[in-house]
Amino acid sequence: MLLDRLGRPLSDLRLSVTDRCNFRCPYCMPRGAPGSSSFLPRKEILSFEELTLVARVFRELGVRKIRLTGGEPLLRRDLPRLVERLRALDVELALTTNGVLLPRFARELRQAGLDRVTVSLDALDGQVFQAMSDAPGFGPADVLAGIEAAERAGFTVLKINCVVRRGVNDSEVPRLIERFAHTPHVLRFIEYMDVGTQNGWRRSEVLPTAELQRKLEELGELIPLPRERASDVAEEYQFRGARLGFISSVSAPFCGSCSRARVAADGGLFGCLFGPRLVDLKPILRGSADSERELADTIARYWRARADRYSEERSKQRRLPLAWGARAEMSRLGG
Ligand code: SAM
Ligand code: SF4
Ligand code: SF4
Repeated sequence: MLLDRLGRPLSDLRLSVTDRCNFRCPYCMPRGAPGSSSFLPRKEILSFEELTLVARVFRELGVRKIRLTGGEPLLRRDLPRLVERLRALDVELALTTNGVLLPRFARELRQAGLDRVTVSLDALDGQVFQAMSDAPGFGPADVLAGIEAAERAGFTVLKINCVVRRGVNDSEVPRLIERFAHTPHVLRFIEYMDVGTQNGWRRSEVLPTAELQRKLEELGELIPLPRERASDVAEEYQFRGARLGFISSVSAPFCGSCSRARVAADGGLFGCLFGPRLVDLKPILRGSADSERELADTIARYWRARADRYSEERSKQRRLPLAWGARAEMSRLGG
């Protein structure tokens, strides 16, 4: 098992397949910000062959779970073909999506061997949805249609991700709970994070889990559920017939068990959502005579040196640590 400097194993990989998106969620890729209109040229994006090789090397180094993400991963052409290739690696394969393209792709993805789907949905009210997701032409009904398509395709238990911003969509929480009560899905509330450099994050917009839970307890009892795996980032509860998860990345960071590596669509390797780009895998993929071995050496060296714990550091300081020069956007790293 490959351990980093803080004793954390490498067990998870987030693989971003595109930096493009059909939404402009202001908390991730705000419209008008440089990263919302200029995207990587096609030749900079890793091909399916390259992504598969990267995934195979991570598998050999201990990764057992790979999540495809973006940008919006369903914008990557022929994504089910990539899923077919990755299925051969014997890892759990998951996808995070904003959901609106699932009616088109859910069945094909399932047939290709995708195991799990996470759908992001921040509001059921149309106006609040637009304030959270800035997605002209799409609305909550499109995401719900995506969720239904995923259910029909055989993804029986979904994770539904809701980023909560105080004063923007916190009023939607009870409606969302009601919508997903008496379904097998897990509705997860995520504290708004200071990822990237463009979202103008302010701590005052974070609704800490403890405060959200206090509000919910006025409506019913939160019954804690056991954690399924040590690496689970959400604390789960049963609440009025719904299964809820809380991801307290700001108020109760979980860096101590963070076992995720992230590879951006252009092959940049990151040890932390908030960290600098450490290594570029693309020159190795495209220039080395023995890419597989060199990738394995590079990734192993990088993981052994890893000591990132940004969120824990943030919680100890009243001010944010200085933004690191090469800090990447969430839309490049995929969450
Ligand atoms: N486009 C896909 C989607 O939205 O599901 C996948 C990529 S998106 C970057 C992955 C996840 O990151 C989403 O669930 C999104 O809500 C979350 N996310 C993005 N920016 C965030 C922020 N500032 N704080 C917390 N979560 C964030
Ligand atoms: Fe796109 Fe997902 Fe970022 Fe929203 S959170 S802008 S859907 S990548
Ligand atoms: Fe992992 Fe970095 Fe998030 Fe901590 S801040 S949990 S190290 S990604």
